[in-house]
Amino acid sequence: MKSVTVWVDGNTSVEVIEPKDSRAVHLTVDGKLIRTTPGKSLLEAVWNRPGIGNIPALCYHPIVQSYGACRLCTVEVEEQGRTRFVASCLYPAKEGLVVRTDTDRVRQLRKGVLELLLARCPEVKVIQDLAIEYGIEKPRFALGVQDCILCGLCVRTCRENIGRSAISLVNRGIFREVAAPFYAYELGDGCVGCGDCVYVCPTGALKLGPDGKPVLPKVHIPRPAAEGLLR
Ligand code: SF4
Repeated sequence: MKSVTVWVDGNTSVEVIEPKDSRAVHLTVDGKLIRTTPGKSLLEAVWNRPGIGNIPALCYHPIVQSYGACRLCTVEVEEQGRTRFVASCLYPAKEGLVVRTDTDRVRQLRKGVLELLLARCPEVKVIQDLAIEYGIEKPRFALGVQDCILCGLCVRTCRENIGRSAISLVNRGIFREVAAPFYAYELGDGCVGCGDCVYVCPTGALKLGPDGKPVLPKVHIPRPAAEGLLR
């Protein structure tokens, strides 16, 4: 057995007696030693510890599997003498890992991502707030009119939690969007109207319609142009 002092949040540390056969994982996040269970990602390890780590994430939700779409949760990890940048929602918490969540380089990477997101969705409040936090006044790119960041949370919760797959991400590049089967924009019988997809949407792009089923994000690329280019 050994005794370790670990932080449970930014202000509170406790002493833990670890049994010899303990499988607990200990890692240092921004200078604070924390203890977590095997199998968790870095983001999951700090998610409910206020005051430890500063990791924004738009495509993460604890009720679905992580996907690493938005890359805002990028952190710096130091392991076996090497430093690198990883998506914390996908990177496993490992014994002895040193994690830095708010360095200049990390902030610079997130700022780049946020600039693109703000250019795509300039009216989305959660992105506006993050952009201000990261010092972006105006993106250098042409402004879009989207409100969906294609994080896929709606698609994942429908499939993983509801077991329906009533919506999916279709197409590639600028034509990528959320659609119902057969490229329909109205949801059919596959949708049970549970509202889970609306609940997890981080930007408010999905809303419940009068029939209790979600209204899919508006498509802002004229359909004929899209069809011409996709042929
Ligand atoms: S409301 Fe419909 S599309 Fe949304 S999660 Fe539920 S079944 Fe899937």
